[in-house]
Amino acid sequence: MAKVTSPDNGEQTSNRLETDWNPDEMALAAQTIERIAADWKDRSRAVQMLQALCGLAAGDPDRLNPDLAAESWGFRATDIGEELRRRWPKIPGVNSWADNPDTAKAKMNEHWPKLKNIWERQKPTIEDGLRAEGLPIEIALYRDEGGGSGNYTKYGFRIDARADSGDSAPDIDLLRVPQVQYRHQDISGNRLVRWMSDRGLYLGGWGGKVFLSVFLLLLIFTVVWSWLVIVAMGASSSAVAFLKLGLIGGLTIVIFYSLFAWQLRLVANRVAVAPMLLQPWAGDDYLLELRKKDGAERNTMYLVRYTADCPICGEHGKDSIRVASGRWEFFGRLVGRCDRAPNEHVFSFDQISRKGRFLR
Ligand SMILES: [Zn+2]
Repeated sequence: MAKVTSPDNGEQTSNRLETDWNPDEMALAAQTIERIAADWKDRSRAVQMLQALCGLAAGDPDRLNPDLAAESWGFRATDIGEELRRRWPKIPGVNSWADNPDTAKAKMNEHWPKLKNIWERQKPTIEDGLRAEGLPIEIALYRDEGGGSGNYTKYGFRIDARADSGDSAPDIDLLRVPQVQYRHQDISGNRLVRWMSDRGLYLGGWGGKVFLSVFLLLLIFTVVWSWLVIVAMGASSSAVAFLKLGLIGGLTIVIFYSLFAWQLRLVANRVAVAPMLLQPWAGDDYLLELRKKDGAERNTMYLVRYTADCPICGEHGKDSIRVASGRWEFFGRLVGRCDRAPNEHVFSFDQISRKGRFLR
């Protein structure tokens, strides 16, 4: 508020962009704002005032030239009253608003704060509308108190800034999204996690043999157990016993799945999302990857993490792509998902070439 009503002339001029003033731009902006305002549900006097001000600015944009001396800049309260009368002659009291400077000033003082509120609320709508019209500018409602005696309070618009495109997503053709380049990212966690990340688990060494034997035993146990459950279900005498055994069977499948599914995926695809045990508290982008070192007989299992910059998000997309499940749409695949739009900015993931292309 202080910025808008500030009588400090030095500050005003520094805020205005004096170098590239263009009356056609101001006229087009005023017309655009009027058209946007016509779509609002709000039909209050304050909005009508804005429409009148837009009409005045579109008809005589040079009056808003920031280089003008304070006494010639902007539109007076009575100018707005006249424009209101021209557009809506039935507004009560519009004649004295147009003809009597005191009434006009009182009316403007009454409705201006409301208009300021509406303007603040509608700022994103206005800016998007201006951008769609090819006007990447930020426009402010402006009131100049006039200062000394005999000077009128003036109303108008001010071009505050050229909106920099860094604020929004870069202009990118979605049919030609560039490839992304994945890179390793640091892994932190407990000793097991760090060891799996730094050295990897060589499946031909003793550690690997223990790991494989434990899972082989679990696999045999689960198979035998499932077989027993199925046999018992066949032999059960009552429906209740049958259902109980069915429940046990279902639980067995769930446990089996969580123990072995990631291993099956890892063996089949040579890379898989790591099980919960190895994931950090916040996040689930740690992967297990099988690699064969030169001359080694067997694979080594590494815990890895990849990241990439999202080309669609541009500046804001640094490190934003993480590898995750392809869900139903890319079933059985790992994909790169952008943190900012995980279901839209989706890229393929290839741990060998470390490249990905846009999948949508
Ligand atoms: Zn993105």
